[in-house]
Amino acid sequence: MGMILFYSADTQIADTYRNLFGGKYFDFVTCESENELYDKTENEDIDIILIDNNIQNVTDIVNKIRAYNENIPLILVASELNQNINLFNGFILKSYDDDTVLAVINSILKTKQKIDRLTLRNSDMAESLYRLNVLYNTSSQFAGTLDTKELLSYMAEGLEKSLSFDIACNISFGFEQEPVLIINSIYDLSEELMNALKLRAVLNYKSLFDSKEIPFEIDDTNLKIIKNIKNPHEKFTFSVFQYDNLFAPIDLGDEFFGCIEIFRKKPFSSDDAAYFQTIVRQVSLPLKSAGLYKEIMGKNSELERLERIKSNFISIVSHELRTPLTPINNAVSILSGGRCGELNKDGIKFVDMIKRNVQTLKGIINHILDSSKIDAGKMEFKYEKMNIHTVIENNKNNFDSVAKETGIELIVSESELPDVYGDSFRLEQVLRNLITNAIKFTPQGRRITVKSELKNSDDIVVSECFASELKKLHGNYVVVSVTDEGIGIKEENFLKVFEPYTQIENALTRKVGGTGLGLHIVKQIVKAHGGAIWCESEEEKGSTFSFAIPVSVENNENKTVQKDMMQGQKLLSLF
Ligand code: ADP
Repeated sequence: MGMILFYSADTQIADTYRNLFGGKYFDFVTCESENELYDKTENEDIDIILIDNNIQNVTDIVNKIRAYNENIPLILVASELNQNINLFNGFILKSYDDDTVLAVINSILKTKQKIDRLTLRNSDMAESLYRLNVLYNTSSQFAGTLDTKELLSYMAEGLEKSLSFDIACNISFGFEQEPVLIINSIYDLSEELMNALKLRAVLNYKSLFDSKEIPFEIDDTNLKIIKNIKNPHEKFTFSVFQYDNLFAPIDLGDEFFGCIEIFRKKPFSSDDAAYFQTIVRQVSLPLKSAGLYKEIMGKNSELERLERIKSNFISIVSHELRTPLTPINNAVSILSGGRCGELNKDGIKFVDMIKRNVQTLKGIINHILDSSKIDAGKMEFKYEKMNIHTVIENNKNNFDSVAKETGIELIVSESELPDVYGDSFRLEQVLRNLITNAIKFTPQGRRITVKSELKNSDDIVVSECFASELKKLHGNYVVVSVTDEGIGIKEENFLKVFEPYTQIENALTRKVGGTGLGLHIVKQIVKAHGGAIWCESEEEKGSTFSFAIPVSVENNENKTVQKDMMQGQKLLSLF
């Protein structure tokens, strides 16, 4: 059944149609004035309006009704066809017999019902599309943060956009030390209302754990409140009983992050409830990640703190150990210089032993100090234009006697080298370390060769494990290498030997001693110069340790600068 409204100045025809439609097929109402027509159109559930051609201002009336509701079919009732027909959705001639009139009305009503259904489906689809869009945006926002506070506010935003709630109450345990009740509201809330909402939130929360143990004990006294009011100048006159609500826990498996309840005057549909559940479920996983992230960050900063304590401890202890070495050294020099009387043979032997051991101890302490300085990014470099020849010559002079003592031949093969921009003290330390290692791990009677040459980064060939290090080099470099005929290193240990406190177990390790810090320090010094270090080796045949330092270039102001220097220094501070 549908409802027909008929507007005519002719009461006779109105009666005829009332008899025809009335009660049997359709509900039938009439009106005799324009105002009555508008009033009934607005307030009654009218499906079709019939307008008699005999009334005044047909055009105006039709336009007014259309402006109010463009979906109601308007049918012209006329004695004969005239131009007014164009304004209407259909017509009935007064000469039509009853069956024809009924057939016309019926078909118009059917069409209208179809259009109504389509319109409804269309608006449902538009609504779904909008919600999907909101869901997509909200999910993208969830993916973009590991901050609990942000995640909860994105959830509230997503719910507000899609479900237009008036108030949302969210209990959360995530982002403060204590439980928090976050209230998002379109208007401000009175004190009583706040208290009522708080109490309700606590009861809701507790109701989730009827038979189970409550994960966090809360009551309305220890619950901190965060209010987000959209229109703070307007206040709610709100009774929860007038509002519909949706409630859900925010959890993932056994993990519980809180719960949320939203309120709205317009009742929620089952689609609304399903959508609400989806968004609330969506936030749980990122909330879990946020919690883990927070935990990791906490552990990280704890580790950083411990690392700081460790490096302070190392540097204090090393300083304290080094201090007495100077007076010991002086005392030994006095003794060996004969200022306290001539030493006998045993005396000389013991004083020499003290001297050697003091030197070893000094070396160890210096390694530990250097390493802790490097790790803290505090090693200072005095860069200047220099030639690596000097570094090699100084080392050769220092090592000649040691090499002779150990029966090892130290060969230096040099070519013409361009200047580099470096810290000569530190570069000498690098080469000294490499030669010391070579001597340590080479049996008597064999050779150690120190070679230096100018090379382009493209011509440097290294093992696969050093490829990524070498990729960072561009242009010309002075490459210094120390080759020994010692015990060699397995390829699987190439990278390991540069790690701090690492010694490769072999027949000589225990005998020769060491801290396992030498190559780590060397690597950081070379890196600080914008260079690289690598090794090649074959077990039982020997090893070659090489380092490359970039050739200095003159900049516009005629100052010597080294490319990648800054990059090297930055890298250092990361270690
Ligand atoms: P250490 O001061 O203990 O020698 P390094 O960092 O200088 O520590 O060296 C680390 C380890 O690398 C050494 O313990 C040794 O096992 C290995 N190594 C270094 N240089 C050589 C070399 N020339 N031949 C063989 N092994 C070497």
